[in-house]
Amino acid sequence: MADEDTLRVIIAGAGIAGLAAAISLERVSTIPHLDIQLYDQAPELLEIGASIALSPNGMRALEKLGVHEALTDEVGYRGPSGIPQIFRHWKTDQIVSFDTHANVPDPCHHTTRFHRGHLHSALLKHVNSRSIHLNKKVARAEVSQDGVSLYFEDGSSAHGDILIGADGIRSRVRQSFIPEYKLRFTGKVFMRSTFDASLVDGNVPDLPADSIHWWGPKDNFFASRLGKGKYTTVGAYDDPHSAEEIEKHISWDQPGNVDFLRERYKDWNPTIRALTQLTPYTHLYPNFAGDPLPTWVFGSRVTLIGDAAHAHGGAFAAGGSLALDDALALSLAMKHVFSSSSIPPSFPVDKVGKALELYSKTRQPHTARLLHIIHNQISQKPQGNMTPEEEEHALIKRMKSRPNTEWLSEHDVEAAFAATVEQLEAGDAAKEPQSLKSIKADRKIGQDMELKESKM
Ligand SMILES: Cc1cc2nc3c(=O)[nH]c(=O)nc-3n(C[C@H](O)[C@H](O)[C@H](O)COP(=O)(O)OP(=O)(O)OC[C@H]3O[C@@H](n4cnc5c(N)ncnc54)[C@H](O)[C@@H]3O)c2cc1C
Repeated sequence: MADEDTLRVIIAGAGIAGLAAAISLERVSTIPHLDIQLYDQAPELLEIGASIALSPNGMRALEKLGVHEALTDEVGYRGPSGIPQIFRHWKTDQIVSFDTHANVPDPCHHTTRFHRGHLHSALLKHVNSRSIHLNKKVARAEVSQDGVSLYFEDGSSAHGDILIGADGIRSRVRQSFIPEYKLRFTGKVFMRSTFDASLVDGNVPDLPADSIHWWGPKDNFFASRLGKGKYTTVGAYDDPHSAEEIEKHISWDQPGNVDFLRERYKDWNPTIRALTQLTPYTHLYPNFAGDPLPTWVFGSRVTLIGDAAHAHGGAFAAGGSLALDDALALSLAMKHVFSSSSIPPSFPVDKVGKALELYSKTRQPHTARLLHIIHNQISQKPQGNMTPEEEEHALIKRMKSRPNTEWLSEHDVEAAFAATVEQLEAGDAAKEPQSLKSIKADRKIGQDMELKESKM
């Protein structure tokens, strides 16, 4: 086979998005001769991290990628009620509100909670280990008419026809093309812990079997079973430091002080107090988010995927599902453009660019809608000097007026892709896409919401 018959794809980052992109390109794009190579900074792909949730859209994407083991009850956890989110009062422990699945007939697609390492391992099994290159920290990326290049901090480099930046929220690929892009500290630091469920089983009176968000006047507490017999607790605190200061003081995944978690939640209801007492450690995760990007396509050969493309800081626990949908959309776009390719296949830059544009037009408005909601929340000033009664009233109002986020958690990426193709092919450039109209509507909704659902 001649080299020009093969599409050489280089992927920066072998996290959830990078692995999903590799699997999806292999299985969905139907391009016969693909050479996919992934480069990650990590010396080893260990099972690190804490809990990560996938909504029905993410679960359906996993199924379409053929990662069936991640749909089992062994790897992920779905609560017995089938209710995706339950919100309880911090003090009384009463259920104040809950979300429901609108159109999720298959229980396998219900919202599922994983240890991030277990989800990552499930994806990893579907990627040829010889195509993953570790200890390769990207320093910068370049694109030309003829191809793409990644330059690593160890002085080596990799070259290909297409570059996918899947290198997470602090993406160096994104930085290479939009150097002025800055992340903002949302003001929250999350304290997360994942441990064996046997630590809490039988030791916490009235411990609900479902995952629970407890909302308080200023912060939340989240607790859930995860797959493989694990349990997670997540607390949070406000930190007044600037983004620059927080970066100096707290690194991502840094060990925290579990006594601080216990002290912070000592006035909450007895179930939460018991959970904090049994939580063996905490790790700290300062929360950052960034604005929507002006473009996701650089030089017709480079695109971004996952957190690199939409730095939403984990809000609405959407990061994993968005990354999986991105991967699926990218492969659908490649399939659409190259399925009627000449024989032998060829990959001229204009066609590669067309595929990447199709991908970004499918995904960018959808993720921008989320980012607009998040940034509205961040810019809200907390109401000061409330009496306890006013504070209680405001809390209940917030809990009961949570907007419907079905557009996010049950998003149908294949339908969105088909609609984008139809719209582009109809040449209906003047028509405003529905998702942009939604962004405008959400600017209003976002003002009524709290950032407190972040990362849980
Ligand atoms: C180790 C780890 C643990 C996590 N734990 C949690 C968690 O507990 N809960 C949660 O909600 N989210 C967690 N996240 C984030 C979550 O995985 C993402 O928000 C989401 O799944 C989207 O995935 P992503 O692939 O875009 O980003 P990520 O999953 O962050 O993956 C990015 C990948 O790129 C690699 N990378 C980053 N910079 C470079 C570079 N310069 N050169 C080469 N490679 C690079 C990283 O090592 C990583 O493998 C974690 C991320 C990581 C990397």
